[in-house]
Amino acid sequence: MSRTVRTVLGDLDPAALGVTDAHDHLFIRSPLLPGQELDDPAAAEDVLRAYAAAGGRTLVQWTPRGLGRGADSLAALSRTTGVRIVAATGAHQAVHYAPGSFSATGAGAEDRPGPYADLAERFVAELTTGLPGAPEGVRAGLIKVAADAGPDSRHTRWTMAAAAEAHHATGAPIAVHLEADGAPPGVVHRLCHRHGVRPDRVILGHLTRLPDRALHRHLAAEGVYLALDSPSRAGHAGDHQAFEVIADLVEAGHAAQLLLGADTTTRTARAAGGPVRLLTELAPRLARSHGPELPELLLTANPAAAFAADWRTP
Ligand SMILES: [Zn+2]
Repeated sequence: MSRTVRTVLGDLDPAALGVTDAHDHLFIRSPLLPGQELDDPAAAEDVLRAYAAAGGRTLVQWTPRGLGRGADSLAALSRTTGVRIVAATGAHQAVHYAPGSFSATGAGAEDRPGPYADLAERFVAELTTGLPGAPEGVRAGLIKVAADAGPDSRHTRWTMAAAAEAHHATGAPIAVHLEADGAPPGVVHRLCHRHGVRPDRVILGHLTRLPDRALHRHLAAEGVYLALDSPSRAGHAGDHQAFEVIADLVEAGHAAQLLLGADTTTRTARAAGGPVRLLTELAPRLARSHGPELPELLLTANPAAAFAADWRTP
């Protein structure tokens, strides 16, 4: 069976992916970011047109279930702008949902109660049948989950277990939102060692927000993909570190595991350039210092490998 990337318009030969923003958001809405909602299809279309004009061909949206991911608009936007879009299923941290959405008190399986009991099934349905509210056949192409801040919470453990289960059932890659004060090596251990997900099926996000270079190298040595985000939030400290973090990981021999994404989560970040800046600022800077092969690898060859899957329908 040949590996394909599952876009909102269908499965694609990874060689056709082209320049790819591996972690971004056209639509996202969280109670944690009031007034910063990305919820306007016309504004998303403007972003995609500007991104395409700068050379962008594919954009991977990491917005999971329940956060206004624009399921009804993604296919039409892809068709009108020519930019391929990969959508996500999955779940974010519980704090991004209405209170009680992820309370663990409901009836259900003893090990994963209440809303967690059928989470894997719902992820699988969105990966193989379609996204609720989307035109028929518009499917997710990755599973996004998030580690909570601080030590592993039950929410983290149960959503990761559901993600691993859905991965084993479908082949979908798993993208992970990390927290600086969480336990990133514990996330990799949980997914890869406890739940048996191959490291090259896991993509870790937000490395640029974690200042610890030894940690980056440790995570890379596990064999996972690392998505470096910039400009993630206008003026965020992580944005200024992206170039150095990438240079350090390239130096350590991990260039083939690195992906780039703008991770635009707010209106402010979008106004500051969003995915366009990824191509007009970060990529040229990497080309000047490391040669043109490096941005080519990080923006085209690596995402083609990271997001391609041997899709299965259980
Ligand atoms: Zn994100």
